[in-house]
Amino acid sequence: MAGFVTRFAPSPTGLLHLGHAFSALAAFEAAKAADGRLLLRIEDIDQARCKPEFEKAIYEDLAWLGISWEGPARRQSEHFNEYKAVLAILREKGVVYRCFKTRKEIAEEIARAPHFSPDGPDGASYVGAPLAALEERSLLADGKSYAWRLSISAARDHLGGAFEELAFTEEGAGPNGETGRLKAMPEIFGDPVIARKDFGTSYHLASVHDDARAGVTHVIRGQDLFHAAHLHVLVYALLDFPAPVYRCHKLITDKTGKRLAKRDESVKLRALRESGSTREDILSKLGFSGT
Ligand code: GLU
Repeated sequence: MAGFVTRFAPSPTGLLHLGHAFSALAAFEAAKAADGRLLLRIEDIDQARCKPEFEKAIYEDLAWLGISWEGPARRQSEHFNEYKAVLAILREKGVVYRCFKTRKEIAEEIARAPHFSPDGPDGASYVGAPLAALEERSLLADGKSYAWRLSISAARDHLGGAFEELAFTEEGAGPNGETGRLKAMPEIFGDPVIARKDFGTSYHLASVHDDARAGVTHVIRGQDLFHAAHLHVLVYALLDFPAPVYRCHKLITDKTGKRLAKRDESVKLRALRESGSTREDILSKLGFSGT
């Protein structure tokens, strides 16, 4: 397919395991089959959790798997200024507000309010509201820290009829078999944090911005991120970017059917390599024919 662009976007918070290998191979093979491009993005905005040695290991593991991408890799931590600029666009549109609440305060409010769901895709789905200008100014003057939340109701007002029409194409399947053209339901996130207190952006904002900027046409990732598309297509619409097609793949599980745990060393690619597994062993284990 002409113009097919996909990406693999790992976070260097640990060593890659078989689940990551599956994702990377799925994207690599899809790009090859479509005569398209594979990009690599290092999602390291959370600098407290990301480590350079894990980033180095990503390159080693991918090379060992025989995966090549169009370089150079994009390291998100080098682009905080771009995420700030894109947040400014959302601010200008009046669809984000400062939230000064602490995690504890939010948890307490959620426990008191039966209409808040404690288990949205990002944890609790909390809906707040902007503060009155005077109150906000005084908190800012006191140096209180805040996150930016995306107001779903303000986004609905801003987009008008287009909000109800928001939809996305899932070419793979979500965890409950969701596939095809799906109506977007960003409200399942409540008012999501779009820029965190600690690093001024979020996975959602950085990911949408980077995919749009790179012209990604197909987002290939695990089913654990299926729900993110409900929110991401809203962010695309607010930023006037065209949304990609989604292709969620199954998650690799252990013998008991449980999702691979990050702490399970035995499924790490490095450990498998060191204990004598070959690239062909991994490919065949994951259902890819070696090429
Ligand atoms: N960085 C995310 C992860 O490692 C992947 C995000 C994405 O593919 O959109 O789970």
